[in-house]
Amino acid sequence: MSATHINSYYAATANEDSCHPVLQGTVRADVCVIGGGFSGISTALSLAERGYSVVVLEGARVGWGASGRNGGQMIAGISGEHRIESQLGEAGRRLLADIRYLGHDIIEDRIRRYQIACDLKHGWAEVAARPRHMSGLRSYVEARQAAGDGDQLELVEAERVSDVIGSRLYHGAMIDRRSGHLHPLNLCLGEARAAAGLGVKIFEESAVIGFGGGAKPYADTAHGRVEAASIVLAGYSDPAFQRGLLNGLLFPTGSYIVATEPLPERVAKEISPQDLAIADSNVVLDYFRLSADRRLLFGGRCNYSNRDPRDIRETLRPRMVEVFPQLQGVALDYAWGGKIDIVLTRVPAIGRLEPNVYYMQGYCGHGVNATHIAGQIVADAISGTMERLDLFERIRHVRLPVGQFLGNQMLALGMLYYRLRDLI
Ligand SMILES: Cc1cc2nc3c(=O)[nH]c(=O)nc-3n(C[C@H](O)[C@H](O)[C@H](O)COP(=O)(O)OP(=O)(O)OC[C@H]3O[C@@H](n4cnc5c(N)ncnc54)[C@H](O)[C@@H]3O)c2cc1C
Repeated sequence: MSATHINSYYAATANEDSCHPVLQGTVRADVCVIGGGFSGISTALSLAERGYSVVVLEGARVGWGASGRNGGQMIAGISGEHRIESQLGEAGRRLLADIRYLGHDIIEDRIRRYQIACDLKHGWAEVAARPRHMSGLRSYVEARQAAGDGDQLELVEAERVSDVIGSRLYHGAMIDRRSGHLHPLNLCLGEARAAAGLGVKIFEESAVIGFGGGAKPYADTAHGRVEAASIVLAGYSDPAFQRGLLNGLLFPTGSYIVATEPLPERVAKEISPQDLAIADSNVVLDYFRLSADRRLLFGGRCNYSNRDPRDIRETLRPRMVEVFPQLQGVALDYAWGGKIDIVLTRVPAIGRLEPNVYYMQGYCGHGVNATHIAGQIVADAISGTMERLDLFERIRHVRLPVGQFLGNQMLALGMLYYRLRDLI
């Protein structure tokens, strides 16, 4: 784990540099959170707001992982909704309706309350990559409107798609005006600052090398130990955490983003007339949006075998130019990647390894809002309200107990099928 942020557009435009000490010696707290991304920081902040004493142990820097590198798309709901409905029935439907915009509410409330400048803009669109994808979008909008929860949704037919995106590749769109986009690293750093302001002790460069629950829960780093009543595992990228129920559950998958040079206002307006966050409707999807300084941040080319491409710029550029031929020749100032935490059922894994050891992971590339939902569910459980955690614990996950390398190869093979289907 590196102590510096990777060279991304986000790191280059961070509002602040987090500066927390390395853990030395023994510290006691009500809760020890392992991982300083959205999952960990959001949980810590939710707990501190309720008066708990909390320690966060981060192996590198706050926001160093996916939370400081992602597409910044704040999308409604969580991944795996069909699975939740089919496994939990009416209770699942109620849960999904209750949490659909909960992450948005938490994020917007914190931006206001703690004055976090993170370029939040409203409006997110899914664009139909194939004509047949429009029928899926149409039934989604109809179902949400029938449930009385669809006022923020708009269907855009093919003849009006240029109102949404300056590309000839798409066959219509659905806009969700309640969703949107933001600068994720600045959100994470702002939330960490707010948590520290409420007394949360954050330690950086303090990777956990061992932890346990039972009568005396603890987390050990190279130079110290935290003793706490509860432990929260929020650092999914560490294979050492994948034990017990988590064994064979999670397969990290590479996803990559390029940021163009700032675009002239005319070009930016042409490619994204409403400044929306946009994702296409493919399973192996492209996602893009404009930054506050009018760069196109273009992401995609998920690599399910978990091997990074040799040159991210040259891997993503052809697809970006295929979508937006106007950007031929535009300089790519930044290129970076990160790991998406895929679980096979697609439902985030939120639960307990032991009565006092909680985990939260597996957002499947849909984690900006979902981490905040998970943080609240875990904070609720620690403070005695178990209903939502119970529902997530009832989900039957699929595990591949074959080791991470083989699991990723199997996942890559499965995704190849979907990629081919996307192309038809
Ligand atoms: C390229 C990319 C694009 C994405 N785009 C989007 C998007 O547009 N919209 C969306 O909703 N989601 C997106 N996602 C997914 C989203 O970023 C993640 O789901 C979310 O950030 C996960 O947050 P987290 O806190 O669980 O994990 P992370 O942010 O990865 O945080 C985990 C932290 O744990 C720390 N850690 C690991 N091991 C240890 C240890 N042993 N001890 C202490 N600390 C440890 C790591 O250093 C890290 O900081 C994207 C992800 C990637 C990679």
